[in-house]
Amino acid sequence: MIQNKYHANEKGYYGDFGGAYIPEMLYSNVEYLRTNYLRIIENPEFQLEFNQLLKDYVGRPSPLYFARRLSETYGASIFLKREDLNHTGAHKINNTIGQILMARQMGKTRIIAETGAGQHGVATATVAALMNLECVVYMGALDVQRQAPNVARMKMLGATVVPVHSGNKTLKDATNEAIRDWIQNPENTFYIIGSVVGPHPYPDMVSRFQSVISEEIKIQLLEKTGRENPDKIIACVGGGSNAAGAFYHFLDNENVELIAVEAEGLGINTHQTAATTAIGKTGIIHGSKTLLMQTSDGQIEEPYSISAGLDYPGIGPLHAHLFVTGRAKFYAATDHEALVAAKLLTRLEGIIPALESAHAFAVLPKVRLKQNEIVVINLSGRGDKDMETYLKSNF
Ligand SMILES: *Cc1c(COP(=O)(O)O)cnc(C)c1O
Repeated sequence: MIQNKYHANEKGYYGDFGGAYIPEMLYSNVEYLRTNYLRIIENPEFQLEFNQLLKDYVGRPSPLYFARRLSETYGASIFLKREDLNHTGAHKINNTIGQILMARQMGKTRIIAETGAGQHGVATATVAALMNLECVVYMGALDVQRQAPNVARMKMLGATVVPVHSGNKTLKDATNEAIRDWIQNPENTFYIIGSVVGPHPYPDMVSRFQSVISEEIKIQLLEKTGRENPDKIIACVGGGSNAAGAFYHFLDNENVELIAVEAEGLGINTHQTAATTAIGKTGIIHGSKTLLMQTSDGQIEEPYSISAGLDYPGIGPLHAHLFVTGRAKFYAATDHEALVAAKLLTRLEGIIPALESAHAFAVLPKVRLKQNEIVVINLSGRGDKDMETYLKSNF
């Protein structure tokens, strides 16, 4: 077992961040998961089934693609980790497959989830269909509107989609409702959390399920360049699961520069932002002590981003720790910068990225790249769900 300064300790702390701040009703569920998740994940039968599904159902390994024209544009060797080519169109499925196997192992019969862009909802509804389990997905009413194609997919997959009308009607509010449901149904229900957030052991469990991304990058990069470590890895951060997966096997190698990109929305100082590390303070959200955006009286500040998957007022505790220790550099990209980056990638490489992923590409003009430097960008998802937003922005 890996145990060191960038991994969760037994209580789920990454430095000062993490832990499990949960109501009494959830204690036995979370405690069972905490004391058993490693044993279950490391069981050879679990590993076999997990890996088989990743291969035959998800389509892994996802390609590592050398983006020639993008590389020429920025003067470095840029490789794209193509999580957009996974079944259901994003990295989220890696985690939902892991968690549905965990749920089955624990004898749970009902699955709940929260979703922002709808990618996690679709990935959860997909594995629930696969395993023939009841599935309820909570989604902010605003996101139900702006991600209509994913709502349709979830319904076709047999899930019940519950629009949430509280707060900003986005991801945070959907998560609140999912937790409320979990508290009311602790016996039969497994909550499949969609990112490296929530009470311990979720952040570590989700990181481990997503770590297949960096495991593959090492092998693929060695094949293509003769080196298994890139100079830089860039990933967008909502809660931080695709970044956690892309960083995981490089966390202890300080020669690999980790670059995390948050959604700046309309600007850091506009109160219309989701750039947690830029303005956040330590607090507790959704069962975890981490950095989050707060008003002066300690209420959670409503986040904003054009991208539903990044529209969250916190980040996972691993990322809070990577930020305060300086292990990862955090940048923010505005709505406009993300749209420009999405258009550029599309025209240079013929790849339409998810709006979330476009934020990662938006930092290319901001980071200093050296000739011959090897850069990996985690292309977390495809852009089909965002076509309406792209078209509205005058492409
Ligand atoms: C959900 C989502 C994200 C943001 O979630 P993380 O947990 O930060 O990875 C990023 N990209 C895509 C395509 C998503 O669907």
